[in-house]
Formats: sequence, C-alpha cells, structure tokens
Amino acid sequence: PAGRGSYSDALHQSFLAKPVRHWLDRLLVARQWDPALAAHRGELSSESDSNSDSNSDSGSADDADQRRFIDAFRQRHPDRRDAYTCWCSRTGARQTNYGNRIDYVLVSHSLADQLLDCDIQPEVSGSDHCPVLAVLSDGYPLSAPPDQPLPSLAAARLPEFAARQRRISDFLAPWRGAQQAPMPPAKQEPPPASLKKRKQPQQQPQPAAKRRQASLSSFFAKPTPTPEVAAPAADSSVEKAAAESDSNGSVSASSASSTAASSSQQWRQLLTGPEKPPLCRGHGEACLLRTVKKDGPNRGRRFWVCPRPEGSAKNAEARCDTFLWVAKR
Ligand SMILES: [Zn+2]
Repeated sequence: PAGRGSYSDALHQSFLAKPVRHWLDRLLVARQWDPALAAHRGELSSESDSNSDSNSDSGSADDADQRRFIDAFRQRHPDRRDAYTCWCSRTGARQTNYGNRIDYVLVSHSLADQLLDCDIQPEVSGSDHCPVLAVLSDGYPLSAPPDQPLPSLAAARLPEFAARQRRISDFLAPWRGAQQAPMPPAKQEPPPASLKKRKQPQQQPQPAAKRRQASLSSFFAKPTPTPEVAAPAADSSVEKAAAESDSNGSVSASSASSTAASSSQQWRQLLTGPEKPPLCRGHGEACLLRTVKKDGPNRGRRFWVCPRPEGSAKNAEARCDTFLWVAKR
C-alpha cells in the first residue's frame, strides 16, 4: 500500500538511497521486495539504466525470480506487522518491541514447496536476537546426495566452523510440536578429533588459575618483614633507633583511630556522591546518566536521558526526548 508519496520525508529518502539497504531485495523474489525500496530503485534505474537489475538478468523477470530465494516467514505471514527478531539491548528496546527483522530463513523454490510453517519466536529470551523457526514436511531429505560435492565456500570447509555449522542439515531436527523449542543438534555432536586436541591445552590451565585466584586476599602481597639488621644487633644505638621507630608507628596508629570519625566526615564533604538526576519531561522520572562513546568533539561528555526503554516516536510509554548535557566542571 506504500506509494511514493508516503516516503517523501528527507530522512526516509536518505535511508533508501544507501545501496546497503537494498541487499536483501537482490536475493528475494520480486513479489517480496519492500515496496518503498523497490519504488526507490525504480527511480534510480530510470535515471541511470546501467544500475538496473534487469541488465544482469538475461531472461525474463520469471527466470530471474527462479534464481532468487523466498523469505519463508513473509511467505507464511504476509501481513504480520511489528515482527522483529533483534532489539537494541542497550536501550531496552525489546520491552517496547522497537526492533528489526534481520534473521531470515531464505529458501529455494523447491524447499519452499516443503515448507509447512515458518515463524519468529520473540518470546524466547537469552540474546538480543530471538530464534527463527522453519518447519519442513516429513519427507524432505536432511542430507545432500553423497555424490554431490560441497560448494567451495561451504561452511564445512572453514576451520572456524570445524565442529559446528558443517551442514545446513545440522540446523534441522525432527519436529516435536510447538510446546518444545527444538535444540540445535550441532551441540549434541562430539567435536572431531582435531578439535579435541586443540581444546585440551585450554582446559588444563583452569585448575591452576582457580588456585591462584582462590580468594580476594590472594591479590594482596604480604608485608615485607622488618629488616633483620635491627633485631639481632647488639649495638644499643641501633636498638634505640628501632624502639623509636616502633613508638612512632604506634603513635600514628592510635591517632588515626581517634580521628577516624572526623576523617570520614571530611571525606563525605569531599565526595558528595553521585549528582542528583533531573526528571525527564515526558514522564517526570529520574533520568539516567550516559557518556558519549562515539568519536568526535563530544566524546567522553556525559548527558541525561529518559530512563524508559527506547520505542517508536508514537509510543507514549517509551523513552521521551529528554536530553540534557551534564555541565562541564
Ligand atoms: Zn521520559
């Protein structure tokens, strides 16, 4: 339903103008293209035909679609709104469901025929992403025919994935019903012998490390014993010097205990504790203190923001626009 007119605002146009926003549409069948992105690309290709997708596709639009994938979730749920799989954990955006759908099950046309269901599982927590689930029909072969060689870029050929993600079928498991979330079967498989060897040196140092850091006190060095010169010395002048230093020590110690109360008062005057937060405009709630992490002239500056989780601009329960710099001292 999105016509060109509804995407007129400059921010949206600059969003659409970035080629990186269009990567998914290149993979997907044309009927699943984002209408705003497709409209924008239409405008672009009329300006310069060399950028047009149709140039690289020698055949008809249908032929091009045959080489593209199908977004399994959108195939099953064409009209589902606010279906997100990733939320910014720093701003608590999951609480207001202000997220992105960036985890996909992309299937070929033949696999799409075997697709019984595909859904996201936003109710499953434990990550800033949620699981994405596809259910295939029973008869689908879980492994490729043995005579079919692996593609050169297959994950199974990469040493980083030696013990996991070896085959797409490692992600698949028999369906046990909606109640039970399927476990990734890759974890149940024992790692290959080559990886076991690599893991062993990592496991062995652990007990030693535990012994070393058994308690907090183990981080503190014992005081070096007093120089032996003083104790066995027969010379009375040395003994006298040692006695003086002893008495000096005890005097300073006792004075420290007698002034402990006033000292803590002095510290309290010096360290007033955290600044009292201002209240946000939208909700009248105590603001949160943040620090600019981005490189630039404001890096390291602190500011106050609304304590609520981030959400869409229309959501009154989500973070309001309160933003206050902390004055430089
Ligand atoms: Zn607020």
